[in-house]
Amino acid sequence: MPRLLSALNPSTIALLVAAWIGSFANFPLWRTLATLPEMSSGRGAVFIFGFAVAVIALTFALLAVFATRHTVKPVAALFLLAAAFGAHFMGTYGVVIDPTMMVNVLQTDARETRDLLSWRMVGTVLLLAGLPLWALWRIRANPTSVFRQIGRNAIAVIVSLALVVAIVFALFADLSATMRNHKQVRYLINPLNSFFALGVLAAQSGAKPAGPPMAIGLDAKALPRTAAARPPLLLLVVGETGRADHFSLNGYSRPTNTELADRQVLSFTEVSSCGTSTAASLPCMFSHLGRKAFEKRDRDQENLLDVLQRAGYAVLWLDNQAGCKGLCARVPNAMAAEAVAGDETGAKSLCDAQGECLDETLIHGLDKRLAALPAERRAKGVVLVLHQMGSHGPAYYKRSPQSHKRFLPECTTNVLQQCEKSALVNAYDNTIVYTDHVLALGIDWLKTHEADYAPAMLYVSDHGESLGENNLYLHGLPYAVAPREQTHVPMLMWLPAQDPLTSCLAAQTKDALSHDNLFHTVLGLVGARSSEYKTAWDITAKCALR
Ligand SMILES: [Zn+2]
Repeated sequence: MPRLLSALNPSTIALLVAAWIGSFANFPLWRTLATLPEMSSGRGAVFIFGFAVAVIALTFALLAVFATRHTVKPVAALFLLAAAFGAHFMGTYGVVIDPTMMVNVLQTDARETRDLLSWRMVGTVLLLAGLPLWALWRIRANPTSVFRQIGRNAIAVIVSLALVVAIVFALFADLSATMRNHKQVRYLINPLNSFFALGVLAAQSGAKPAGPPMAIGLDAKALPRTAAARPPLLLLVVGETGRADHFSLNGYSRPTNTELADRQVLSFTEVSSCGTSTAASLPCMFSHLGRKAFEKRDRDQENLLDVLQRAGYAVLWLDNQAGCKGLCARVPNAMAAEAVAGDETGAKSLCDAQGECLDETLIHGLDKRLAALPAERRAKGVVLVLHQMGSHGPAYYKRSPQSHKRFLPECTTNVLQQCEKSALVNAYDNTIVYTDHVLALGIDWLKTHEADYAPAMLYVSDHGESLGENNLYLHGLPYAVAPREQTHVPMLMWLPAQDPLTSCLAAQTKDALSHDNLFHTVLGLVGARSSEYKTAWDITAKCALR
């Protein structure tokens, strides 16, 4: 380190860090802007330059608030690390960091984190954060008097904010058009996107009333059945990261649904999801509100499972993923892996050393689980929810066992763009082949209970997935700008061959449906009602047979 740089005023350090973050750690932003068609002219270059100066000035304004001798380095380090990790995920997977993505990040468990670690991440973080952190460590922050530093920082904040305002005015036409046409660009401004998202979440949690969610379904009941009718037994499978257009039942050219094709399932081909991530979709799909009202809700409410439970049904949530996001908090629930831990029937081989299990674990031991539910509730009806691991990325190859790897070679890294597109699609399609198998096992299990129950299976995925289209990977883009790959989800239903509902529903498989229909259709399928129930959203209601 040359003598010249060995000691600097804290606000100068803040400026250097802001310049580093604004220029290098924002490479996903500059790359995205540079590829927009409207940026190809000289005017575009001026805009990108002005935008960069504004981003640096804004970052500096924030850092300058903390630019004192003792605080500048820890705060700068926090900014650098947040920016480096953000740059890695945005640059590698084409995701953006908005409040919804932050919920995903905060809810990520160790297993999911392991799937995301890569040498590329280590490299990016070392380069974008390690290098400047090393320089920071070598540089001394000059001591100044407290009042002088406060004055200096205040000037720095005012001047940099004035510069931001000036740039916004100068570039207003291009800026407003770009922000309107490419909404996701604002969520690429790094690390301000992360801080903004955390701020929004903190504000939201402060605004929502504390305590348990508002009770719903207080008048829930099971409709009367004829004495001869068997109680319903519904297997509700919550899929993970399934893409409707990769199901051969929906016309995909590769044979991904060979087992289900033999079992006469209905495939609803035009279903859209409520969100683009598990954390966003799950609470919304189990709500009675529907996507639009759910987004606007001012407090949390109970969900489908609570209503079924109040109506007297036997409910069980069985999980092979990161949990039920609070949905199953008031109903019986279990992790699939726990049951096979002490099992001697070979089910243990479904789980690896880290405790991650293949989805067949969900089907294993269902007889015992069914028998353990209270008899008086079972007599009204049973809803078993299976929460799949499904096609959870980016380590798709981990989601299918050797026996179901129909398409080879597979992409076996989590840095997806390093793989051939065909190998990436192979690994993904094998997850669908395996889901096909697991759902077929579920149907076969239901058939063994036809004597005592009226069985049915409903499968729907929580959201889709980008597999490199437009350089996007994974999922979680803001709903308004998300590509169809992330919101077009598979939904399947199986009913016994003689069930009169089948032909009536078969006429609706091409209707435009969504997660909005789930709550109401489940109530319809099991013959439950509550004041939240909307006939228009129940796809079985038209059939009027139950
Ligand atoms: Zn998901």
